[in-house]
Amino acid sequence: MKLKLTTKILIGLLAGIIVGLLLGGSPEIAEKYIAPFGTLFFNLIRMIIVPLVLSSLVVGAASTGDVRKLGRMGGKTVAFYLGTTAVAVTIGLILGNLFSPGSGIAMPINETAEAVSAPPLLETLINIIPSNPLQAIVNANMLQIIAFALFIGVGITTVGEKGKPLFNFFESLAEVMYKITAFIMSLAPYGVFALIVPVVAVNGPSVLAPLVKVIIAVYLGALIHAIVVYSSIVKAFGKMNPLKFFKGVAPAATVAYSTASSAGTLPVTIKSAKENLGVSNGVASFVLPLGATINMDGTALYQGVCALFVAQVYGLELALAQQVTIVLTATLASIGTAGVPGAGFIMLTMVLTAVGLPIEGAALIAGIDRVLDMARTAVNVVGDSAVAVAVAATEDELEPVTEKVTS
Ligand code: ASP
Repeated sequence: MKLKLTTKILIGLLAGIIVGLLLGGSPEIAEKYIAPFGTLFFNLIRMIIVPLVLSSLVVGAASTGDVRKLGRMGGKTVAFYLGTTAVAVTIGLILGNLFSPGSGIAMPINETAEAVSAPPLLETLINIIPSNPLQAIVNANMLQIIAFALFIGVGITTVGEKGKPLFNFFESLAEVMYKITAFIMSLAPYGVFALIVPVVAVNGPSVLAPLVKVIIAVYLGALIHAIVVYSSIVKAFGKMNPLKFFKGVAPAATVAYSTASSAGTLPVTIKSAKENLGVSNGVASFVLPLGATINMDGTALYQGVCALFVAQVYGLELALAQQVTIVLTATLASIGTAGVPGAGFIMLTMVLTAVGLPIEGAALIAGIDRVLDMARTAVNVVGDSAVAVAVAATEDELEPVTEKVTS
């Protein structure tokens, strides 16, 4: 039987959850024999992120052929990203208030979370310009690579004829990277399976049960945000059927769910947006790398829920002004949050500090963080894709795609 790749990836995910539950009693087997294949798959995707982002962004910036258009697109993208993130935290706070996941919990707090280690916003902004671009590439510093690529792209456009060979070089590099992405994606059903088994085996029901309300609030929030906000965005700006959108973005969402890294998922996100959603190469390669780095709706939503959870556990009331502070801090913190597993948890300590909540409270979440991380990362990636559709549509760069939804 010939199944679509998306269906196969979903089967891999479900099978992984089932096998993980079955192996719950002996997670070492999962860790020892299955996890390495997951790491192998994840490393394969990560291998191409830097060359892909650099080359596709140079091509994207150079092919707009007009610096003003690039600036306009940048402004729109950032506005969409910040707007959707603020809505996400608000949904998180509302659910945290409704569910009261922390009331009635009297957990002994004997672990201590690491204090805030998030870089201040100003520092993040100044550091966007790399003093040494090669170092940025070696360290896979996404924001810096984006900045460097934009400069090269604009440089190529302004130089004219003499810039052509460099453009061709990056175009060829990007094409080769897309080909490699397609190959890696054919392994995704197995990769996703191998990634998810150890997570489920280690975080079995007994680990999750005490905090089940937090999990429900975050997952429900994720669903509401996706269904309400993203459906409206793709419908209003892209005139796209939301179902078609979710179907098209599914491969990226599944990979994000199982890897818990939006930076790691980026090659797949770009591929899905271009092939399944009809976003032009120029827009996809500009909006999506930026999104994987600065747009974290799922993370912000999780921080809203968790801040209220911590307040409730300690029996503290959060005044409206404090809740507004959470919206602002979480929105800004999402810019500085790296798209790697667990980054949102570190930022959570910063959000707690901003409203004077004890950061030890974060330790209560630590045990279930991976399961929350998977959901928030999937939302992060779907959010990037929804904004890519909207920006493409308003720039008249959204091509109609035929029914053939590929990987
Ligand atoms: N893992 C998330 C991501 O990569 C970030 C987070 O920890 O919230 O998008």
